[in-house]
Order: sequence, then structure tokens, then C-alpha cells
Amino acid sequence: MLSAIIALAALALVASFGLAIAARIFAVETDPRIELVEDALPGANCGACGFPGCSGLAKAIVEEKAGVADCPVGGGGTATAVAEIMGLSFSGGGEKMVAMINCKGDDEVALKRFHYNGVADCTSAALIFGGDKSCSYGCLGLGTCAGACPFGAIEMLPSGLALVDPEKCTGCTKCVDSCPKGIIKMVPASRTVHILCSSHDKGGVARKACKTACIGCQKCVKAVPEGAIVMDNFLAVINYEMEIPEEVAGECPMNTIVVSRQGGMAPPGQEMQTAAGGDA
Ligand code: SF4
Ligand code: SF4
Repeated sequence: MLSAIIALAALALVASFGLAIAARIFAVETDPRIELVEDALPGANCGACGFPGCSGLAKAIVEEKAGVADCPVGGGGTATAVAEIMGLSFSGGGEKMVAMINCKGDDEVALKRFHYNGVADCTSAALIFGGDKSCSYGCLGLGTCAGACPFGAIEMLPSGLALVDPEKCTGCTKCVDSCPKGIIKMVPASRTVHILCSSHDKGGVARKACKTACIGCQKCVKAVPEGAIVMDNFLAVINYEMEIPEEVAGECPMNTIVVSRQGGMAPPGQEMQTAAGGDA
């Protein structure tokens, strides 16, 4: 019995030696920079960079399959830190971008063509005649973007509109990809004037569908420096490269233009004000 125990112990000892040697021989060398880069990334694991989480991006950066500025959440500070680890320099950065929902047509002002009673998801709703809104460009209000946001930055208002909290928005663009109506755009966080409409319908049609639609009257275009607001197929569109005087909001007969000093949309619960002072 004793000899059997001794034999087994000896066997175990030999096996563990063998395993230790094999582990050394077949060990896969990992670049220590991967861990350092991962530590420098925000740790959001949102996947907005296109890689499986922050560890996936860190590995890709070290293997030179991704750039030091490829984390859309981290911004310039993260890119600079990652570049330092990689022995590179990074001087870009740019301004923080936040999501903006380009529709102001809530249940109060936008007509509906029928009563949708299906799955509470915008993508599903859009499959049925493009959704229940009379305006085929309007927000469907079922919160698919809110569900897609990894940072809880989008709130669904009881009035049937999605609202971005620019403080929480990291600019990861997940919501942009999730919206079946394509009405979420990224805008510079510091900009205060926005045209919250995506309708390319002609004025009469747009006005009939929504009391706050852009009707393409071009009053705003004429009130700002040339090129600051341009017409795109009956829709006025802000050129965020140029400064826009806030007074332009008072020119819009449809209250489509809003001024928000919160960096993008006003935070939940706060009404946006037009420059003219009326509720937007
Ligand atoms: S913005 Fe798009 S995804 Fe979000 S609620 Fe409106 S239609 Fe749905
Ligand atoms: S003034 Fe208002 S309705 Fe007229 S084009 Fe500009 S945004 Fe549209």
C-alpha cells in the first residue's frame, strides 16, 4: 500500500515537472503593451470601435491593426495616452461630438397614419409602411436608440420622442447605427443652434404631417452668413463648420430651430428655448 502511494506521488511529481517544462516551451509571448493600452482605454467595452471590447482594441492597436485614436469614446486624451505607450505622438483630438435626434415631432404635433400595435421596437415598426407617423422621416418613439446606448444617455419622453443627455453621451455612435429612420446625427457638443427636422417633403406636405416640420421657406438661410445653413432637398441643414447666430431661431415660422446651451439637446425635463424666447 505504502509503495503504491509513493509510486503515485513520484508519478505526480514527474507529471508536474513535465507540465511546467511544456508550459515554458509552448508559452505564447504576449506583448506587455497590450495590458498598458487596455488600462489607458476607458473600459466602456461598448464595441463602438468595431473590436470585441477594450481588450480587443488594445490588442489590435499593439498589432498595428488599429490606430491610437480609434476609440470613439476616449477622445483626444485617451489617444494621446495610447500614443505615448506605443512610442508615437498624437496631436489631433478635436471637439467632443454628441448625438442629436433630428426630429421634434412628438405626439402633440405630429400626425399618425394608423395605430401601431406591434413589437415595441423602432426597427420592427419601420417595417410596416415605414412606421405610423404621417411624416415618413419622423422619430417613431419606441426607443431602439435608447436600448442601444451603452451609457444610458438617451431617455424616451412620454410625448414619444427620444432625447439625448449630452453630459452622458460619449459619442460612441451606437445609437446612430440603431435608428431605422437615420435621424440621429453627431454634432459638435459646443454648438447651440440646431434644426430638429429630417423631412425632405415639400413644405405643404411636411406642414400637414407635423406642426414643427421644416417647410423649406429658407427664412433661416437668408438670416445667417452664406453657407451657414444650406438647403438639402426642401430641408434646411446646419453647417456646423460655421458659426450660427442664435437669433436665427426666431426667424423660423415653424419653431423647428432650437437653441440649447447645454451642448446639444437640453437635458431631460428641461424645455428648449428658441432665441425669440418661446418654447421650442
Ligand atoms: S431616434 Fe430613431 S431609434 Fe430613437 S426612438 Fe426615434 S426612430 Fe427610434
Ligand atoms: S426657417 Fe424653419 S421652416 Fe424655414 S427653412 Fe428654416 S428651418 Fe425650415
